Amino acid sequence: MRKKPGNKKLGSVMATAALSCALAVTGCSQYASSGELRSREQSRRSESQASETGPGQSILSDGQEDEDVFEGAETSRLETERTTAPMPEFEAVQDEVYVKSEGGGSVRIRSSCDTGDNSNILTLAGPGARLSRTGKNDKWTRVEINGAPGYISTEYITTEAPETKAVSGNTYAGSGTVTLDPSWKYAEFSKINTGAAVMYRSEAADKKNITVCVNAGHGTSGGGSVKTLCHPDGTPKVTGGTTSAGATTAVAVSSGMTFLDGTPESKVTLAMAKTFKDKLLAAGYDVLMIRESDDVQLDNVARTVIANNASDCHIALHWDSTESDKGAFYMSVPNVESYRNMEPVKSNWQRHNALGESLVSGLKGADVKIFSGGSMEMDLTQTSYSTVPSIDIELGDKASDYSQAALDRLAEGLVAGVNQYFGR
Ligand SMILES: [Zn+2]
Repeated sequence: MRKKPGNKKLGSVMATAALSCALAVTGCSQYASSGELRSREQSRRSESQASETGPGQSILSDGQEDEDVFEGAETSRLETERTTAPMPEFEAVQDEVYVKSEGGGSVRIRSSCDTGDNSNILTLAGPGARLSRTGKNDKWTRVEINGAPGYISTEYITTEAPETKAVSGNTYAGSGTVTLDPSWKYAEFSKINTGAAVMYRSEAADKKNITVCVNAGHGTSGGGSVKTLCHPDGTPKVTGGTTSAGATTAVAVSSGMTFLDGTPESKVTLAMAKTFKDKLLAAGYDVLMIRESDDVQLDNVARTVIANNASDCHIALHWDSTESDKGAFYMSVPNVESYRNMEPVKSNWQRHNALGESLVSGLKGADVKIFSGGSMEMDLTQTSYSTVPSIDIELGDKASDYSQAALDRLAEGLVAGVNQYFGR
């Protein structure tokens, strides 16, 4: 099981490095056939599945490692071969390039030209993301990430701008209040939906035409006494958290935790949402606010379905229930085959994780403390119903500073992460 003390992390890192190298695309001396790769991947997955679905495990507070989150075959394909040579020569250029990936997967951007060491992954860039290029050679392209150099495989770079719709697929044109339309996909799974979200349109000079749904976690009175299906197909949850693994229903909206000084989480997520909204609007993003007061009568399913239909990405703000001031992280999509094969997770999980990676990278750039590898696998109602890139980000825990100065810094980091995700 994954809780064994000792070498868990080292073993996992080594396995990751081996897999990453084995999945090389071209010309690698350690080339392995696709059949071999598949069987390795499958045995790795069944191992991780067995350990993550073990009975009675709570993974909310054990500080587990998640190095494997991005090791699915889909993303691992998107790599150049391992390069261990010293920094290659770059032809200096200064232009804008875009990420292309035929399967729609995200591509890694690293701090060095070494695909054998995953500790150097700075962020993932989704298809169509715009990057500032400063150097190029046949294998690697140097780009600027948060003012520092990052390296991405040249194979996944194009100078052709994608059609606008590739980045911003949402066509919702309204402003003002947004309520749950019962004809929207999955709307019927919501139990609390008499409330309304509010759409704000940016008036900044540099309008992005991208809508970010900002979801202040918790804050639905009565939400704890109603239950909704964890998954739209009725299957049980694959990880344990607030709701244990194996359950098919979860509370519609939980009340959240209480900070050590007695302040409810929902107050802090609301203050954070308002701060984040202001900074997003100033940066040119439109903002869909799920909650703007202590109570909105929208359960997690309704919040998610509204985000699916009226925004381009969904960011739910939370603080975790530990007391160690452990830092920020995002809830990543569990690496469990049945879960990643269930729609709408199947078509969207890579984008969820890429958004989470971008947000954590932005937070890091704002000097926010990051927990462990920056992610923790969790099967959430939000993820299970999301059809736009969607993430639950935990910005700290019960012991964290939530002064306005701290919230400002978090919001700056999150805006930088959103910029990174959309390549702006
Ligand atoms: Zn929460």
